Amino acid sequence: MQAFVFQIAPMRVLFGVGSRERLGSELETLGAQRALIIADPSKAGLSSDLADLIGPRCVGVYDQVAPHVPIETAEAGRAEVKRTNADCCITVGGGSSTGLGKAIAMEIDVPIIAVPTTYAGSEMTPIWGLTQDGVKRTGRNPKVLPKVVLYDPELTATLPPQVAGPSCMNAMAHCVEALYAENANPVISLLAKEGISSLAESLPKVMRDPANLEGQSQALYGAWLAGLVLGSVGMALHHKLCHVLGGTFNTPHAETHAIILPYVAAFNVEAAPEARKYLEAALGTPKIASTLRQLCEASGGPVSLKALGLGETDLDTVAETATQAAYYNPRKITTEGIRQLLEDAYHGTMPQP
Ligand code: NAD
Repeated sequence: MQAFVFQIAPMRVLFGVGSRERLGSELETLGAQRALIIADPSKAGLSSDLADLIGPRCVGVYDQVAPHVPIETAEAGRAEVKRTNADCCITVGGGSSTGLGKAIAMEIDVPIIAVPTTYAGSEMTPIWGLTQDGVKRTGRNPKVLPKVVLYDPELTATLPPQVAGPSCMNAMAHCVEALYAENANPVISLLAKEGISSLAESLPKVMRDPANLEGQSQALYGAWLAGLVLGSVGMALHHKLCHVLGGTFNTPHAETHAIILPYVAAFNVEAAPEARKYLEAALGTPKIASTLRQLCEASGGPVSLKALGLGETDLDTVAETATQAAYYNPRKITTEGIRQLLEDAYHGTMPQP
């Protein structure tokens, strides 16, 4: 067995239908008296229910949440925490709400309780993101990691299938890359494998019947594991390509991950035999890349870069940008190799194996 380092962040996770109702007792455990709810505006009903639940310990609901945490949004959120003298932030919503909570915790010493309503997984990671002058910077800081996460499958049941499907694929991508991470370790690999099988099984269920809480529980469990592995080990080529595509061409986050994943898997698996074993076990087939491609199709989103509106010449830009700086990947990265991968993803051809 290869030598490894295992480190995991200290945090508390409450999982299950109705777990949001335990918000009050979690505030008590933290010793918080003045909680500010930071919520996606589309979650106004849920925020108001949570505010009622904690009564006078709620000092307000702040809903100025925006995608990718613009710096102005972060500064306004920090000012609101100071104005209300909050001693805790409760984030309610997807990665954008969690992201604002993290941007606040970077600068102000307040614990976060996260109540996720999507499968994004940000609540499990110490990774922050801030957008300034159109450029998104990310980094890691243990200060931004929520102290408590309440995963309640009733809250993801309102996700429309066209959002839920690609979001499951995005979570799956974190698990796939965790298996061949530079600092991979056997415990994280077990979690990643479990995450992949949960997400693969639940994806068609949450698409077909969003109100089915068994399917939602399985998907949210997979999303939790995906966030956990993303926060614990490094990522590689897949995340780099999606970052370049999103940053340069503003392609949609989850859909881009869903399209690219099968092609990166096809590119990397031969060079990562351990990861390959875990993937085969998780998906129940040696046909890893083609199965991921089928799942991408089942997720209801586009299956090719062409369908996202990219032109063939854009692929050169992506290949060049993605190979400029050195980073870890199990298989050697060359501009030609990446260009071919992108070409396949552009046409959405069925990858092998
Ligand atoms: P999001 O929070 O912007 O939510 C996406 C959309 O879904 C929004 O329109 C929102 O209003 C809606 N929505 C949220 N919950 C819903 C529900 N239950 N029912 C119906 N609609 C709902 O985005 P996201 O997809 O959750 O997360 C993506 C963002 O998170 C990206 O900015 C990404 O970079 C970031 N992210 C960060 C990390 C990290 O570790 N820092 C990890 C994953 C994602």
